[in-house]
Amino acid sequence: MNKYLEQLVQLSKYDGKISAYEPKIENEKSKLTLFLQTADSISSTISAVANEIEDLKSKKSKNNTHLAELKTKLDEISKKHNSIQNEKELKALQLEEEITKEQISFANEEISRLDTLIESKEENLKELEGKLEGEKEEINEIQVAVDNAIEELNKDRNEVYAQRAQLLEKFDNKILTFYEKIRRWAKDAAVVPVRKQACCGCYMKISDKAYADVLKAEEIVNCPHCGRILYKEVESEEA
Ligand SMILES: [Zn+2]
Repeated sequence: MNKYLEQLVQLSKYDGKISAYEPKIENEKSKLTLFLQTADSISSTISAVANEIEDLKSKKSKNNTHLAELKTKLDEISKKHNSIQNEKELKALQLEEEITKEQISFANEEISRLDTLIESKEENLKELEGKLEGEKEEINEIQVAVDNAIEELNKDRNEVYAQRAQLLEKFDNKILTFYEKIRRWAKDAAVVPVRKQACCGCYMKISDKAYADVLKAEEIVNCPHCGRILYKEVESEEA
């Protein structure tokens, strides 16, 4: 095979390999995304529930204040009993007493209702905190695995970079410029094999003459349709 063509095939392979690392690294990073999203959503639920508990506690405290007021009022009413002058006054006082007692019982009911709610919310909160803890542990484990995998990929990629740099030392500048020009639009498919007499870049059939030239591999042949550099694939690659 033409020396330059051989180098071009090799360079193109290195460039293809290097490009393939980025999606692999992204794929590793994405393994964490779902777990981070879940942890985020649990965290927001936790703060929402905590706010609800605060609200309920403030309501309970207001009811307790009200209850204390009602009890004072009831004490005052019972003291008034000693100074009653007539039946009318007695009836009015009894009515007031009854209403106050009703209000007390209502306030007590409300406090116990709030207590039940607070208790169930606090249980829910504990559950959520446990869940978040588990999620965080899992994230830490995955983080270690992901970091290791990315480090390994970066190491491999640097090796390919080094091989590429070594190859470029021997490269002819004109050939390199020629390659870079095609690569600008063809990306990693600037140098492609010919299969069944068709260019593997544009998939168009090439003429018998062009095909014969590719098989001979004595010079650099461009696809007559798309301009990519063509080469004859070795058997093992095709398999
Ligand atoms: Zn082509």
